[in-house]
Amino acid sequence: MVLSKTALTSDDSIHSTFASRYVRNSIPRFEMPKNSIPKEAAYQIINDELKFDGNPRLNLASFVTTWMEPECDKLMMESINKNNVEMEQYPVTTDLQNRCVNMIARLFNAPLGDGEAAIGVGTVGSSEAVMLAGLAFKRLWQNKRKAQGLPYDKPNIVTGANIQVCLEKFARYFEVELKEVKLREGYYVMDPEKAVEMVDENTICVVAILGSTLTGEFEDVKLLNDLLVEKNKKTGWDTPIHVDAASGGFIAPFLYPELEWDFRLPLVKSINVSGHKYGLVYAGIGWVVWRTKTDLPDELIFNINYLGADQPTFTLNFSKGSSQVIAQYYQLIRLGFEGYRNVMDTCHENMMVLKQGLEKTGRFNIISKENGVPLVAFSLKDSSLHNEFEVAEMLRRFGWIIPAYKMPADAEHVTVLRVVIRDDFSRNLAERLVSDFDKVLHELDMLPSGIHANMANGTVNGVKKTAEEMQREVTSYWKKFVENKKTNKNTITK
Ligand SMILES: *Cc1c(COP(=O)(O)O)cnc(C)c1O
Repeated sequence: MVLSKTALTSDDSIHSTFASRYVRNSIPRFEMPKNSIPKEAAYQIINDELKFDGNPRLNLASFVTTWMEPECDKLMMESINKNNVEMEQYPVTTDLQNRCVNMIARLFNAPLGDGEAAIGVGTVGSSEAVMLAGLAFKRLWQNKRKAQGLPYDKPNIVTGANIQVCLEKFARYFEVELKEVKLREGYYVMDPEKAVEMVDENTICVVAILGSTLTGEFEDVKLLNDLLVEKNKKTGWDTPIHVDAASGGFIAPFLYPELEWDFRLPLVKSINVSGHKYGLVYAGIGWVVWRTKTDLPDELIFNINYLGADQPTFTLNFSKGSSQVIAQYYQLIRLGFEGYRNVMDTCHENMMVLKQGLEKTGRFNIISKENGVPLVAFSLKDSSLHNEFEVAEMLRRFGWIIPAYKMPADAEHVTVLRVVIRDDFSRNLAERLVSDFDKVLHELDMLPSGIHANMANGTVNGVKKTAEEMQREVTSYWKKFVENKKTNKNTITK
């Protein structure tokens, strides 16, 4: 880099071409540069490089919000310098967060009296929320076992093999054994009967997912609750349920109000939801709410006083931004129940447009259900010549980012493509995507087998590629399952 001082001051002609203005010399990438550069140059260099990222609006791999109203963008920018943990300094922001917790707890039918405060907290996302919920279950279980004079060193958690990676993290980081109900072809969620069979005296909770990451399908929480009530009666245990409603928590209340999955079921003690998924806020906000005060052990709550008044906190981190909390409050009051229902209805409609368009090609098996998270998961009927990874790769040329992935154990021979429908995915885009699918299928038919990347066996045009090269080709949005042959865990992140 870049502009020598003389160039700035004495030779204006040097400003006249774009490239020589900012990028005549290279800047070090992995070492802090010795000298400063002008702010315009820094902006331009970074902005140029960022152009090679995918376009968030065409990123159909993720549930996470990529569009908000300009008024809310403005509110977020205006509060970007507020640290959320400084409750004494920013009492209004703290109050908005409490209002959000209360609105969400009531949306999930928490048994709260008039004016009674809900128990919950804003987090960075569902992952942090799941860690907190898991810790509460673990501690309650340990306390009970200790009081009974029973061993408390082998806690476990029962889930389906379709869990999101955050639960695996919880299990590993906080030393809880993960007992997974296997999937099978054609059935990609946790089977409640098998889950309840796996429950033993060391089970701290069963986790059900409202909106499986893989297929969007809602698990049958009501059946799980009823079976578990029976088992608890027989055994004298009181194994509870946590619902990971990361994506479904802001869908079910609006589209399927009759569906009982939340605090209406007595064993559901805590629920997490991602504010940044169908809560319609940009990345960086999640929520966890507890049924009642007694479901969150006091000893996990810290009272800090270094910022002024005595404040209770129960989060894994300390400082973080406030913008997302403020944005969540904006969405809740701006849209209201009516607005959220409209958004979810529209997502559902656009999902149907896409699903029917894909069915019409005659080339795909649709794996996702119509009621669940608005997404379409599908696989090729015939993948003998070209597979789902090649379809995904070719769609990248049109700008679309669509992941292909293998299902977890024991359905790993099934590969699916998944398109997530968000608020900003309009009908027009859905129709365009269908027509681009048509083009890709047509092109693939013209090509000999395997000419494109065969991601599944790590070759491109028959040439073995390094893991790094492969990853670049697949997109950075998901990790390879095949590498991890032993567990073949699903590691898509959103
Ligand atoms: C997205 C997702 C998560 C992780 O949520 P973050 O908010 O991204 O941390 C957990 N569980 C499920 C079911 C998800 O879909």
